[in-house]
Amino acid sequence: MEDTIFTENRKLKRQLDNLIRRARTNEQKQALFDSFGFEVISASTPAQLRDYVLFQMQVRFQLQGVVMTLIDFDHDVEKLFYGHDTDAKTLYESKLIILDVEKDKAKISTLKTFPVLGSDVINQYQWMLGGLDDIEHCKSSAVLPLIRSNQLIGTLLLLSRDENRYEAGIATTFLQKLSAMTAVAIENCLNQQRIKEIGYQDPLTQAYNRRYFDLRFADEIERSLRQSDNLACMFLDVDFFKRVNDTYGHHVGDLVLTQLVKLIKEQVRACDIVARYGGEEFVVVLPGVTLEKATEIAERLRKAVETDSRLSCEQGGLSITVSIGMDVLSALTEENMSAEEIGNLLLLHADKALYTAKSSGRNQVVIHQNISAG
Ligand code: GH3
Ligand code: MG
Ligand code: MG
Repeated sequence: MEDTIFTENRKLKRQLDNLIRRARTNEQKQALFDSFGFEVISASTPAQLRDYVLFQMQVRFQLQGVVMTLIDFDHDVEKLFYGHDTDAKTLYESKLIILDVEKDKAKISTLKTFPVLGSDVINQYQWMLGGLDDIEHCKSSAVLPLIRSNQLIGTLLLLSRDENRYEAGIATTFLQKLSAMTAVAIENCLNQQRIKEIGYQDPLTQAYNRRYFDLRFADEIERSLRQSDNLACMFLDVDFFKRVNDTYGHHVGDLVLTQLVKLIKEQVRACDIVARYGGEEFVVVLPGVTLEKATEIAERLRKAVETDSRLSCEQGGLSITVSIGMDVLSALTEENMSAEEIGNLLLLHADKALYTAKSSGRNQVVIHQNISAG
């Protein structure tokens, strides 16, 4: 009799211990999810968001991998997320899949508005795993919806080596909370970045404005000096633009400037800076580009302006050309100069070269000659 009670007691105690252990684990889990959720929500820049979601989340929750997909409704997610940071793009490209709202319709239609958990989930979403290593060790996964204002804006794929971690049918309250907080953070960061971008843009042409140029140019100069890299800088000014305004009106002049910026952007890379320096004068900065290559680009640009039908309307007699002055950082030999002084000198050289292009006939590219520097 006593023996039975004793055994029964031990059984009950074991059960109670188990329950306490589970409650403690849940408590720890909740604390971990909560603290991480609050950190994610505090992210105010895409760089912070990238770090939390695509790096920290994997480490903190001991996951094998995290992949985020984002539906690009306004064709601006890549730019907002990476800006001109090509290193970040290389680093996170395999973990952040940007889905074009039109081109990737088929993929988007497979995304669910509820969590999908289990060991065969990755088979359904092979396309999310493109850049990940070690995928054969992934034994279970969860695809969580990112929802804002009743709209699916993307998903979060969590991968685990533990086959029991994400089983179909388990409670998903923690995961749903995490994905809801992540969705808020994404919307917030992208919107804040959008506002910043608007403040950096020239409203007429959509080129960057001087404010942005000054900030970014200083960064690029510093980076190029640090890495002993090339940096080409060109000034571009429309030839006889006053005539365009006088003959066709200011409105046509405005249109020409808008089309010109479109054309310049088509001819350079996304990481290059195209900024309106003033009036109908633009500055184009090409990081990592040699003098030889920059000359080729400038000449191509000049020709494109001369021949592009959006700018030249022969019937109406409207014909646009540009003069380009240019210099590259590696051509500067001055020592003991600060980055700011070097930047100013580079701009001065490009401007002088532009002046030469103007005074020697226009519609041409002139490279600053170091012999006459000063
Ligand atoms: P050059 O070949 O020497 O450059 O001759 P130019 O006529 O282009 O001379 P300049 O650069 O001095 O003239 C610039 C003109 O551009 C004067 C100004 O009215 C016009 N302009 C500046 N900003 C705008 C703008 O936003 N819209 C329009 N339509 N015109 C502008
Ligand atoms: Mg001009
Ligand atoms: Mg001018």
